[in-house]
Amino acid sequence: MKKRFIKYFLWLGLVFLSLFISSCLPSFFQTENPPTSITPSFPPFDTYADSFVKKYGWDKNYVTRWPNGIVEVFDMTGYPLLQEILDKYNDMIGGPTSFQLSFNPFSPIIVTVDYSLNLYQNCGYTEVYIGNNSMIYGATIFIFPDENLCPVYATLLHEFGHVVGFGEHTNDGCVMDPINLGNTHFSEPVLTMVHRLYQLPIGSYLP
Ligand SMILES: [Zn+2]
Repeated sequence: MKKRFIKYFLWLGLVFLSLFISSCLPSFFQTENPPTSITPSFPPFDTYADSFVKKYGWDKNYVTRWPNGIVEVFDMTGYPLLQEILDKYNDMIGGPTSFQLSFNPFSPIIVTVDYSLNLYQNCGYTEVYIGNNSMIYGATIFIFPDENLCPVYATLLHEFGHVVGFGEHTNDGCVMDPINLGNTHFSEPVLTMVHRLYQLPIGSYLP
């Protein structure tokens, strides 16, 4: 009888011990930043803004943009207001992706000069490199760097629009019109498109 009592006592002890351990474990293993959900949160439905992404983006069917994080820009023109131009787009995007000047010559974005542009009376053009996962992974901007013949600030504003995600032109008298004679105004569709583009996950379908 006494033996059995000790046995029960032991069992009770084990039960209490396991309860104690299980209550301690979660707090013991908890990290400072609790892991967030793995599945990407889709932003609230916004057909108005989505229509601009579809109309002006590099791909009519899938969200095509740079990944989240800092994207480095290597400038070979020495243009002093380049970061100011980048910040206009950074403000428009509002967080997920940020374009920053860098001294790294292997930066994914290169800004350089092309004097032959003048032969075609062109002030700038841009090559944008897009992976088959709809991610923009590189771009090169070529400008004709002569302030007397080309409005360099407006040209760079325009070309960066293509880098950030504009595959088309507007026709509303703003920066993204095909011919820019010095216009630095961003129209509402441009502001809406760029901001919305970086809320949507890369490669998501545009209905
Ligand atoms: Zn253009």
